Amino acid sequence: MDYQGDIIRPPSEANSIILQVTTGCSHNHCTFCGAYREKSYGVKQWSTIQHDLEFAARWCTRQKTMFLADGDALALPHELMVQLLTSIRQMLPWVRRVASYANCHNIEGKSDLQLCRYKELGLSRIYMGLESGHDSTLRKIGKGVDGAQMVTAGRRVRTAGMFLSVTCLLGIAGIEASLDHAQATAAVLNQMEPSQIAVLTLMILDNTPLFRELQARRFQPLDQGQLFHELRMMLSAIELKRAQFQANHASNYFSLSGRLPKDKEAMLATIDSALNGTLNLKDESFRLL
Ligand code: SF4
Repeated sequence: MDYQGDIIRPPSEANSIILQVTTGCSHNHCTFCGAYREKSYGVKQWSTIQHDLEFAARWCTRQKTMFLADGDALALPHELMVQLLTSIRQMLPWVRRVASYANCHNIEGKSDLQLCRYKELGLSRIYMGLESGHDSTLRKIGKGVDGAQMVTAGRRVRTAGMFLSVTCLLGIAGIEASLDHAQATAAVLNQMEPSQIAVLTLMILDNTPLFRELQARRFQPLDQGQLFHELRMMLSAIELKRAQFQANHASNYFSLSGRLPKDKEAMLATIDSALNGTLNLKDESFRLL
C-alpha cells in the first residue's frame, strides 16, 4: 500500500484496511493540531488508489472494514468519491463498513443527496472533530466554523443515515473559558445528536501555534482537577436519549465508557472518584495522542 507520511486513524479503526486517498488536511489551521503540519494537502492519483485497492482485494480479504485516510477524505470531489466507493464495493465486496474523518467544511461542501449517495455506496461512518461548542473558543483555535454550523453539519450526516462519532477536547478553552466550553459543548451535542461522543484531553504539541501561545503565557492550561471538573460539567449537561460516551483515549488520565443515558450516573461517580483522589490515574508519561 502507498502510505505517505504518518497515518492517523481513530482507535476503533485499528483492524480496518487503511486506504490513503488524500494526504494531510484540507483545513490545517487548527492551532492545537500537529497532525499534518509537515504534510501538504492533496488528492492522490487515481492510479495509486486503484493499485492499493487491487492490493487490498488480494491480501486483505479478512478485514471487513475500511478507513479512508488522511485527515478529511470527505474533501474528495463528489465524482471521485462516487468512483472510489463504487470501486471498493466492486473490488472488495466483503467490506461492510467504510469510514472517514470529516470536518464541518467538508460536510457543508456536500449536498444532502450526495451524502445519501455515499451512504448507499457504503460510507456509513463519519468521525468529526467538534472539539468545542463554544464559539469564542472555536474562533481562537482556528476551526473556521461556529457551533451552529457544527450542529447543522452533524445533523445532516445523521439524516443521511450514517453513524456519527464526534470528538470533544477537554482543556482546549484554557482556564478562563473552561466552564463555558463544557456547557456550550454539551449544548451543541444535545442538538446534534451524534451516535458517539469521544472525549480526548488536550496535549500541547511543540509544532503547533498553541504551543507558542503557551510559551507566551497567552494560554493557561488546566490542571488535572480542573480537567475532571470540566468533564463532569460537560457530561452532566448532556441530555441525549441514545449515544455512546467514551473518554478512553490514550490522552485521558482515566478511562470512561458507557451508554447514555443509562450509564451517566455511574460515569459521573467515576469522575467524582477522580476528583476526590480515590481513582488510579494514568501517569503523565503514559499519555499519548
Ligand atoms: S483538527 Fe482536524 S480539521 Fe483541524 S487541522 Fe487537524 S486534521 Fe485538520
